[in-house]
Amino acid sequence: MKKSKKIYLDYASATPIEKDVLLVMNKIFKENFANSSAIHDLGVQSKNILSESRKNIAKIIDAHQNEIIFTSGSTESNNLAINGVIKNSTRLLKNFPHIITTNIEHSSVLEVCKYLTENKLAEVTYVPVERSGIVDPKKIKKVMRKETVLISVMYVNNEIGTIQPIKEIAKEIRHFNKLNNTKVLLHTDATQAINYLEINVEKLGIDMMSFNAGKIYGPKGIGALYVRRRTPIEKIIFGGDQEYGMRAGTENLASVVGFAKALELTEKIKEKENNKRLKKLQDYFIKKLQNLEKDIVLNGDLENRLPNNINITIPKIPSDLLVIELSARGVMVSAKSACKSGEEGESYVIKAIKPEADQENGSIRFSLGRSTTKEDLDFTLKSLKQILTKLKKWYN
Ligand code: PLP
Repeated sequence: MKKSKKIYLDYASATPIEKDVLLVMNKIFKENFANSSAIHDLGVQSKNILSESRKNIAKIIDAHQNEIIFTSGSTESNNLAINGVIKNSTRLLKNFPHIITTNIEHSSVLEVCKYLTENKLAEVTYVPVERSGIVDPKKIKKVMRKETVLISVMYVNNEIGTIQPIKEIAKEIRHFNKLNNTKVLLHTDATQAINYLEINVEKLGIDMMSFNAGKIYGPKGIGALYVRRRTPIEKIIFGGDQEYGMRAGTENLASVVGFAKALELTEKIKEKENNKRLKKLQDYFIKKLQNLEKDIVLNGDLENRLPNNINITIPKIPSDLLVIELSARGVMVSAKSACKSGEEGESYVIKAIKPEADQENGSIRFSLGRSTTKEDLDFTLKSLKQILTKLKKWYN
């Protein structure tokens, strides 16, 4: 059984570009190639377009335009947020600056933290998430101290889609700052959240937010870091004085325009169409999966999670094999392999929520998107049934 049309259920890793996004980008590629730093007429035109897009993005997240720094994506935004704040504070503090984060952050947060610790530039506390995949704000509060300069907690986890209580964490920080006359900052990696959740930075109460266009049906290789005014942060890339002196390098104008368009479209369809439709599909898929395989393990909280994410483990069946078998039948999903310490591709996220997970066989993530239909899910379930019948002969 193989479908000629591919069924794409990997929207959490990359989304296709919306037609309207491509149209606005094409126009820029053709007509506005001039460098936005040039002072001639065409340069000024580019600069105005850049500024218009920045304004539009800022408005959507309730920020000022000079609080938006364009980057190459969320990896760079996370690096700038964490490394940039620590660079600034190392000069001011006698003790190591202290960072608080969780044990299920994206590697672009965890690796910067590791670098800072290994080079004795900061001390990092990793607050473990609960079995639900959600961090308890009280546990963050418990480890805050006067050397704490930054708390970085992702808005939504990329593997299991669980939503972190950012507003509550912000509240704890405000309370701590007031009591101790400190200025602990809150950064959130909102990469996976933008499609589905509130991204008003004032309502969330955050100081910095990383996001990108490649996950919201825009181009890859472009992102932004929202930095609240007066946040003590230093640049990490040196060169020209683009992006208010915070990120050197010629701006990627076509991608910036595509990013702004993608965000505008995302905001339009978010609550009304997208979330409700996907939630129905998610419920349907989970129910059918449970009927299909009684031993199936659903990873992560089922309430506080994105409407497009289903993450499962099927005991005794290696997830990599499932992905390959599904792919051979035209269904694209992603997997993390079993947690054998140090193994590439292992899921530290599943390990964090289920320390006993090394007896299991990794996890598969189905992430749905704007074009996913019930028929796509039915075909996936049918394929999965065939695959399990075949594999169980070998693995049981
Ligand atoms: N943070 C999260 C939560 C992600 O899911 C991703 C990408 O998968 C990134 C950061 C990295 O984003 P980029 O590829 O734009 O650097």
